Amino acid sequence: MNTSGFLSVFENLDWDRCRDRIYSMKASDVEAALHRAGKGSPDDFMALISPAAAPYLETMARTSRMLTQKRFGKTMQMYIPMYLSNECQNICTYCGFSFDNKLPRVTLNDEQILEEVKVIKSMGMDHVLLVTGEANRKVGVDYLAHAISLIRPYFSHISLEVQPLEQDEYERLGALGLHTVLVYQETYHRDAYKDYHPKGKKSNFEYRLDTPDRLGKAGIHKIGLGALIGLEEWRTDAFFTALHMYYLERTYWQSRFSISFPRLRPAEGIIEPRVSISEKDLTQLICAYRIFNENVELSLSTRERPTFRNHILGLGITTMSAGSRTNPGGYTEKEESLEQFEIDDDRSPAEMAKVIRDAGLEVVWKDWDRVLNAS
Ligand code: SF4
Repeated sequence: MNTSGFLSVFENLDWDRCRDRIYSMKASDVEAALHRAGKGSPDDFMALISPAAAPYLETMARTSRMLTQKRFGKTMQMYIPMYLSNECQNICTYCGFSFDNKLPRVTLNDEQILEEVKVIKSMGMDHVLLVTGEANRKVGVDYLAHAISLIRPYFSHISLEVQPLEQDEYERLGALGLHTVLVYQETYHRDAYKDYHPKGKKSNFEYRLDTPDRLGKAGIHKIGLGALIGLEEWRTDAFFTALHMYYLERTYWQSRFSISFPRLRPAEGIIEPRVSISEKDLTQLICAYRIFNENVELSLSTRERPTFRNHILGLGITTMSAGSRTNPGGYTEKEESLEQFEIDDDRSPAEMAKVIRDAGLEVVWKDWDRVLNAS
């Protein structure tokens, strides 16, 4: 493994020192960061996520709302995940699909995929996120390429959340119509990462950390980052995620970026979260990202409870899922398969759309067209 790309930046950082700096931020640092809203530095982001920023939450929310409307208008982009397989060769101690978890393993065939597509399209969804476990033999790049080609006529925006791939494999999938790839580092704490990922290819921290660089080099349109909230001290993980995006934006200027806020949720056979985050803290974190970067897309899934999702509308989030199932075949439910994690908001896309409209936002089902993939 070479140490170019973000890896070379990361090697010069020390987790404890970054955490101490976040916790030593003062009110004056927060005020300076607010003054530079939309054009801040990573140091400003540190101030905005620090405990010193908690008394400024109302100001942060107002600023975040203003920046979001300026860049994105009063809109909310909708998407839905489609789980293709729960096969996984990794042991991740926080995931229901972990290799050591005894559960029925299912990989959808063409017919089953198209049945899922039919249900998803009947909900009005046009932006789909394909998800699998990490199992190169069962759901390797050939399977993914075939799945993308199969569903491409039905969706204008296809995203992927699967095992990290090589640059040429991303190029191949991009040529078939793949638009966005999400790859979460889970935690940037190297030692803790090894504890949470004891076996399988995912235990290679550096290879995963290098993945967004490979995506940028492959010219993928949008790259999604995130840390799994619940594994390690959330402020420090958020700082590393923001720094990662900051580096990528400057290196791969042709790509767009999104940040997600996955929070550890219950699932069969998994560990309890080591750390917790309150909804107030999560609001601060979302606003901090927006004030730090006015262009980044911020995404919130159905892992969060309905009242929180209602509350956060308009404050910085630009993309939301609805009606999600987190097991393969979950929309047609012909196969018995365990879900990856429990969802908290089970409102249908139509119900969610009404809530979004009632909050004064326009629901966007489609923000991309396949023909643009050729440009
Ligand atoms: S988090 Fe991903 S890689 Fe880990 S067990 Fe779950 S599906 Fe597999």
